Amino acid sequence: METRYWKLKKDEPLDPQLESAAKLLRQGEVVAFPTETVYGLGADGLNGEACRKIFAAKGRPADNPLILHISEMDQIRPLTSGLSPMAEKLMAAFWPGPMTLIVPKSEIIPEVVTAGQETVAVRFPSDPVARALIRLNGRPLAAPSANKSGKPSPTNAQDVLQDMEGIIGGVVDGGACDIGVESTIIDTTGKEPVILRPGGITEEMIQEVMGAVELDPGLVSPDQKPKAPGMKYRHYAPKAPMFLVEGPEAGLGVIRAAVMAEAWGLKVGVLALDETVQHLPHTARLVICDAGKDMAALAENLYTELREFDRQQVDVILGEGVPTQGLGLAIMNRMRKSAGHNILVYDRGLFRKQSGQVPEFLQGMVVE
Ligand code: AMP
Ligand code: MG
Repeated sequence: METRYWKLKKDEPLDPQLESAAKLLRQGEVVAFPTETVYGLGADGLNGEACRKIFAAKGRPADNPLILHISEMDQIRPLTSGLSPMAEKLMAAFWPGPMTLIVPKSEIIPEVVTAGQETVAVRFPSDPVARALIRLNGRPLAAPSANKSGKPSPTNAQDVLQDMEGIIGGVVDGGACDIGVESTIIDTTGKEPVILRPGGITEEMIQEVMGAVELDPGLVSPDQKPKAPGMKYRHYAPKAPMFLVEGPEAGLGVIRAAVMAEAWGLKVGVLALDETVQHLPHTARLVICDAGKDMAALAENLYTELREFDRQQVDVILGEGVPTQGLGLAIMNRMRKSAGHNILVYDRGLFRKQSGQVPEFLQGMVVE
């Protein structure tokens, strides 16, 4: 299939630039488009046949439900059999924005969208391109991240094309995404709001508005099944094995591990914050990705850099862990999965194994 490509011009009106993409969507085709979190793989969310094409394009397991995206607040009402006061309060506080609500589904939702759940996931994005496209489609758009299942989510149009060229109807290029990690998913069907996937709206922000918020136990404990079906899969995985260094001296640990890996003869990808990067030696076999100064920069760059390591064909990846506060919770949720839970802690000059594998080049140096 020919994949059409539309590069948006910032200073021209949006609607005419989006009309042919919207037409494809209305005809039941799949079109990728930017949102403030990551690029979405869109299809008419009330057309089951169109939504099935999303699963085929991504190679997505059929038990992993889709999020429906709306372009105005009230568009959620026909999609649900009823909103709790909790849901209404969250909508008022955080929509439009990077928050997805789990609500009881209504009759009009195709089976394929909810993958057999009694609930449906709904989000009202803030990105103007996403909103215009949904409006032009005239109905909600189902839109999971526009990557092949299991790979890091795309945060720019080139990364979408890498996975989807020849497979989908088109790609709308609106530049790089602001936030860089997926939306926060909140279950609103119980007594308290429960975070099923951490994201751009942080636990602290929800706590402030709602007074209470819980984390799905499946997020923290490896023995519990996550409530969001998609969270059980190994996601966001680069090609090379990845090891995460966490703890109070994570940056120092990354530097030490990088030097050891290079001495072992490996081509090493390093994903670390500015301050750590400044202290790394600049040699040919070190591929250094400077994730930026703070959490927001790290979130924004994370997936692009994981994909860059694939392009550079590194042998091993070392990532610097950050504290799980604020956006750090979402970042660490994704990074730990990327690393297949290969986690070392570096503290007072010593490596300790937290979980997963210990890399060969550190064998004998790690306290198990
Ligand atoms: P993606 O669109 O790729 O960001 O993935 C959507 C995420 O939302 C997956 O982790 C799904 O499992 C989750 N999700 C979608 N619908 C539901 C639902 N009804 N209940 C729980 N999780 C859901
Ligand atoms: Mg995804």
